[in-house]
Amino acid sequence: MAGRNFLFVPGPTNVPDRVLRAMVVPQEDHRSPKFGELGLACINGLKKIFKTEAGTPFIFPASGTGCWEAALANCLNPGDKVLIARFGQFSHLWADMAARLGFQVEILETPWGEGAPIERYRAALAADTTHSIKAVLATQNETATGVNSNIPALRAAIDSVKHPALLMVDSVSALASVDFRMDEWGVDVCVSGSQKGLMMPAGLGITCVSAKALELAKTSTSPRCYFDYGDMVRNNATGYFPYTPSIPLLYGLKEAIAMLLEEGLENVFARHAYLAAGVRAAVLEGWGLKLCATEPQWYSDTVSAIMVPEGFDAAKVIARAYSQYNTSLGAGLSKVAGKVFRIGHLGDSNVVMCLAAVAAAEIAMIDVGIPVTPGSGVAAASTYYRTHSPEAA
Ligand SMILES: *Cc1c(COP(=O)(O)O)cnc(C)c1O
Repeated sequence: MAGRNFLFVPGPTNVPDRVLRAMVVPQEDHRSPKFGELGLACINGLKKIFKTEAGTPFIFPASGTGCWEAALANCLNPGDKVLIARFGQFSHLWADMAARLGFQVEILETPWGEGAPIERYRAALAADTTHSIKAVLATQNETATGVNSNIPALRAAIDSVKHPALLMVDSVSALASVDFRMDEWGVDVCVSGSQKGLMMPAGLGITCVSAKALELAKTSTSPRCYFDYGDMVRNNATGYFPYTPSIPLLYGLKEAIAMLLEEGLENVFARHAYLAAGVRAAVLEGWGLKLCATEPQWYSDTVSAIMVPEGFDAAKVIARAYSQYNTSLGAGLSKVAGKVFRIGHLGDSNVVMCLAAVAAAEIAMIDVGIPVTPGSGVAAASTYYRTHSPEAA
């Protein structure tokens, strides 16, 4: 099909040309005297992205999933208990991984469409008087449902009952798009990846670990090797890695971090809030449809999960958009398969890209018989964009 494929899945996201060019490099010796400069540039740059001075970022040749595993295997002892709220496919997968690795998992079942239930976390921790819960797991942005959770409120809840558990946060689809503050929010492990807000191809698992969690990792006895934090710490001190890193991806990461810092993280967050609000205007006001996120407090500024009306199949909208209009929309996963399609509006995105996503979704919905008024979504989104600005969002 002529022209570009328009990519609006919430990861992998669009890679800016600057980052693409930065990755076209010859291979080089990853033990050369010079190589450490690249490693250190990436690690130090990531500290700014995580907003940390006390934390230690690690870059694994992996994806976000690998960093979930690294967090559990490094910081916990065999059979330890973790507490996690499940409200979408990604929180489900992390809980499932913890169980498959042999940890005890206490799950707070939460309706899909809501975010982290702060009071229920607090109650579960308060009831745990023997402190058998060793880690509290939370998904900052549930990509399956387009739901954002309040991580500082969760930190405050943990502190209010003086519980010593580690706070582990999945920020795979939030970091570098919406605010994240490792030190200020008292996060012990933040898990992320290269292919969402960081505007890169998949291939790097990106994580940050607090001093408290690193200390626990020194004595924890859960088996791990490839994902061992200790091996990383020793090699990273001079910018090197325990094994062969992906050199093009590191050059790309360095460039992506430079772009984010040039724009300014606060401006990046304001842009995401503004773009997301325009897409929501299309959904709620233009089409008169519902989001999977049930209340404004849960609305995600990186991905919108849009409910198709009863009796229609969201998978058909996605298939039509792809085959007829060369546009990739995100699928509904697991429990919401067929009920939602998703528009990712994170990373290297702007107003006209979001209008294109809205236009493609709109015509694909009309094609499969969903009764939305032609032009209504585009009109609502464009009105929002014309009458607001990112600063004011
Ligand atoms: C994408 C995603 C993951 C999985 O990351 P991979 O890089 O695909 O391993 C985990 N959590 C959330 C919230 C995600 O959006």
